[in-house]
Amino acid sequence: MDSQGLPTQNRVLVTGGAGFLGSHLCERLLAAGNEVLCVDNYFTGRRSNIEPLLDHPRFEALRHDVTFPLYVEVDEIYNLACPASPVHYQFDPVQTTKTSVIGAVNMLGLAKRTHAKIFQASTSEIYGDPEVHPQVEEYRGSVNTLGPRACYDEGKRAAETLFFDYHRQHQVKIKVGRIFNTYGPRMLPNDGRVVSNFIIQALTGQDITIYGDGQQTRSFCFVDDLIEGFVRLMATPPDVTGPINLGNPHEITIGELARHILDITGSGSRLINAALPVDDPMQRCPDITKARAILEWEPRVHLREGLVQTIAYFDKMLSAQRTTTAA
Ligand code: NAD
Ligand code: UDP
Ligand code: UDP
Repeated sequence: MDSQGLPTQNRVLVTGGAGFLGSHLCERLLAAGNEVLCVDNYFTGRRSNIEPLLDHPRFEALRHDVTFPLYVEVDEIYNLACPASPVHYQFDPVQTTKTSVIGAVNMLGLAKRTHAKIFQASTSEIYGDPEVHPQVEEYRGSVNTLGPRACYDEGKRAAETLFFDYHRQHQVKIKVGRIFNTYGPRMLPNDGRVVSNFIIQALTGQDITIYGDGQQTRSFCFVDDLIEGFVRLMATPPDVTGPINLGNPHEITIGELARHILDITGSGSRLINAALPVDDPMQRCPDITKARAILEWEPRVHLREGLVQTIAYFDKMLSAQRTTTAA
């Protein structure tokens, strides 16, 4: 029982818990009655993301870098620590690979010692610039090992290898989710990802920067749907290890995304074209047959509905900034 007399479920560690996805996950786990330990080095995470949770009797936050060992007693681990936006993960690429690889070794070592179940936030970037479309879990991917995205892609691929080796060699209970592009409130306004960029540009009347001709595709999942997928994957029987794709199979071009955002915001921003980043995947869409069958899960929030919520979040944030500047 916790101090409020409610049954306590599990002691759960969330690495990267002060980030975009991590903070939503911490909230969800607390609401389900768990004790939550959030570990973050605040590279891209923010204290404000977890501020409302700090007074919660079952929540604890620890500043720590997962490339260093961590000795705590837990039942479950969600390993999310790693910058996710290309701008951030390319800022210090060596640290990005270290975070994925050494971070995975440390968290798997912790899982081995405590017999905790461990979830890995893997990524659709495992598939690189894919020749198989939509991407199924069996597809082995097409990643440029030498390019600017490799620190992230190859770091995450090595982490998957470590997860499966700890599972085979040390019987660690693993759950690997391959996450596709996810958006929603608490994305950083300056993290360079397409949804946050386009919304901020639309709300502030700046030009909307479409990289390349805008014909490249992505499939955007709303954060609440994704977190539900995490929790369901963690709850599967021990023989379910993944990898399982978690994402929204509704695929659109980047040009279409820009037009949706202009339409919802009513913005007069112009669409302009800029250079396509090196190794930018031309198409991406998850095949979620496995997730549907094994987790009985599929995204429920339509793109328009999710964008409306995300735009409202950024609008509020920009208004608060204007008030602070004016004061
Ligand atoms: P985010 O950048 O908001 O969160 C990552 C968090 O990890 C941040 O709070 C950051 O401070 C923390 N962190 C980074 N390096 C760390 C280290 N060495 N030690 C401790 N903490 C560290 O990104 P996000 O979108 O919330 O992504 C979370 C996870 O999901 C990442 O592992 C990412 O690769 C994965 N993922 C996200 C998406 C997406 O669309 N958001 C897609 C695929 C995979
Ligand atoms: N580790 C950790 N917390 C623990 C147990 C291990 O951070 O509770 C780290 C430790 O740094 C170790 C790594 O995880 O080097 C891998 O652990 P493992 O038991 O696989 O290897 P070993 O300790 O034999 O190097
Ligand atoms: N993109 C864009 N304008 C921007 C930011 C991104 O056209 O201001 C494009 C980017 O080139 C890519 C897609 O949008 O094709 C998704 O980019 P993001 O960085 O959000 O995610 P990822 O490339 O990791 O899927």
